[in-house]
Amino acid sequence: MQNILEKLKSGQILFCDGAMGTFLQAKGLKPGECPELWCVERPDDVRDIHRQYRQAGSDIVECNSFGGSRYKLKHYDLADRAGEINQAAAAVAREVAGDDQYVLGSAGPTGEFMAPLGLETEENFYEAFREQITAFEAGGADAVIIETMTALEEAAVAVRAAKENTNLVVMASFTFDPQKGGGYASMMGVTPEKFAEAIIEAGADIIGTNCGTGPDHMIEIVKILRATAPDMPIIAMANAGMPVIENGQTVFKETPEAMASKAPLLVAAGANIIGGCCGTGPAHIAAMKKAVLGG
Ligand SMILES: [Zn+2]
Repeated sequence: MQNILEKLKSGQILFCDGAMGTFLQAKGLKPGECPELWCVERPDDVRDIHRQYRQAGSDIVECNSFGGSRYKLKHYDLADRAGEINQAAAAVAREVAGDDQYVLGSAGPTGEFMAPLGLETEENFYEAFREQITAFEAGGADAVIIETMTALEEAAVAVRAAKENTNLVVMASFTFDPQKGGGYASMMGVTPEKFAEAIIEAGADIIGTNCGTGPDHMIEIVKILRATAPDMPIIAMANAGMPVIENGQTVFKETPEAMASKAPLLVAAGANIIGGCCGTGPAHIAAMKKAVLGG
């Protein structure tokens, strides 16, 4: 199979998966249970989710590994199993992907901060991301996405750990919110422009944006990324609309049809890979793909 970057050079738009967490909950994941441990203990359920996205038409299978760094696994006393769990996440995805879909390891934030904001060192972060991302490669992944990031230092160290220790294609994706005075910034105050410049410098192969406040804002964010980095492939994975609080729960209500109507605008704005984040499912992916490719 052609490397993702080669494939994108031909001008093809690729489709990624939608959400994983809500799917796991629907299959019985309990509050306080470690989602990533299902890659080891309930691989059939994880494979079934991957299979449903595959049937929806995704080109890229995203692993159930978002909270798989040793920092996150520590909350479940599983830090010492980080290598095993992340390798299993990639292997389970690969079984479904076969040789005609790409496998994308997901590495989310550690939840910690480096000095001076927090107590962590760059070396510790580097080591945690090296451990997680080399495990993706050992499990058969093609690429890694360092996603839902808001702090530039953390994202950059993760990109370096991936580039220096694996041959994976490395994607880095930030979550941005609209700002009161206009424009966009991450929770840590990083603008899309600043993110793009710094993360390309750190060595990312693909830049992008995920999560946040739905496809309308994401179209604007992608335009900024495209203007800042004219030649970089861009991935965009929006939530199913703005988060809404209902009965104390955060829900996302944009329908597959509504998201599909905006998918061609995301592509026109400059996105090369599109997928879904919170609140999206197979129906969203199938509808977006149909809207972009026709048929
Ligand atoms: Zn999300």
